[in-house]
Amino acid sequence: MNNTKAYAAASATSPVARTTIPRRDPNKRDVEIEILFTGICHSDLHSVRNEWSEFSPTVYPIVPGHEIVGRVTSVGSAVTNFKPGDVAAVGCMVDSDRTCVQCQAGFEQFCQNMTLTFNSVDNHLGGVTFGGYSESIVVDEHFVLRIPSNLDLAGAAPLLCAGITTYSPLRHWGVTKGKKVGVVGLGGLGHMGVKLAHAFGAHVVVFTTSPNKKEDALRLGADEVVVSRDTGEMGKHAGSFDFILDTVSAEHDINAYLNLLARDGNITLVGAPPKPLGVSAFALIGGRRSLSGSNIGGIAETQEMLDFCGEHNITADVEVIPIQKINEAYERLLKSDVKYRFAIDMASLKSE
Ligand SMILES: [Zn+2]
Ligand SMILES: [Zn+2]
Repeated sequence: MNNTKAYAAASATSPVARTTIPRRDPNKRDVEIEILFTGICHSDLHSVRNEWSEFSPTVYPIVPGHEIVGRVTSVGSAVTNFKPGDVAAVGCMVDSDRTCVQCQAGFEQFCQNMTLTFNSVDNHLGGVTFGGYSESIVVDEHFVLRIPSNLDLAGAAPLLCAGITTYSPLRHWGVTKGKKVGVVGLGGLGHMGVKLAHAFGAHVVVFTTSPNKKEDALRLGADEVVVSRDTGEMGKHAGSFDFILDTVSAEHDINAYLNLLARDGNITLVGAPPKPLGVSAFALIGGRRSLSGSNIGGIAETQEMLDFCGEHNITADVEVIPIQKINEAYERLLKSDVKYRFAIDMASLKSE
């Protein structure tokens, strides 16, 4: 067992602060990674503050972080895909049973025995898993991913959660050239949704509550921007969308978007509003529309997404911060004061 520097929260009301955590010695199928950059996902903050206590109570201390990019420092004897010195990445999952129907089909994210990167039962050391706000991590090679060499590493980190969360439903619902696609919300998830849908060749329309995001949305690849509070503007798009990606995690009127879908159109939720949405049956019935959800993606699909991003030179727009600014970054995240993802430069932890 190795001790490694990390940043953790000791309780739901504590700041995230410097600590030391154990990492297991790599077993034969493990890859040991020195972490270079970790993206800050909103779920880090939800978990730190125990805001999802109903379905995933936080065990303290918690070390968040599941958008991890680093360099391999050692590998177990049975590891074949990685060697010391390679750039490697880890996303939201670090293990699963590999035997259930979900795992067999490549949907590790739906495995009943899946291990999340943080705040999940740690089958090796006991306690819970610790995430990417740390100097290093040890992960089974099946859950370690490759980053295309042309991508900026800080900007690539958010692909591991925000990237796959938006890529997977766009792919599943057949977004391609000639399709009209809406992206609701222009935050960490939404800005990735826009870049990816644009790269798939779709006609992309961004829905935002802030008129001042218009220019940025166009820069990111949107073809049109609609201010969602303007019912007149919304009405112009009625019945016209093949697919809408809804990234909003605050309360909002889902029916306003259902009414924009064409026949057989689908809207997929990737945000998680705390209260149930009031869905109008009429909005679904008229036009055989459907409402779905989606949660990250499997390991093979995550690699496919990373390779796609390599081919199209896509990374997240990041603001790189030292880890000492983490609590400030959380406050700014709450105000949506980031374009569009924070990435922690782990050199700042190393030198502490
Ligand atoms: Zn995330
Ligand atoms: Zn499984």
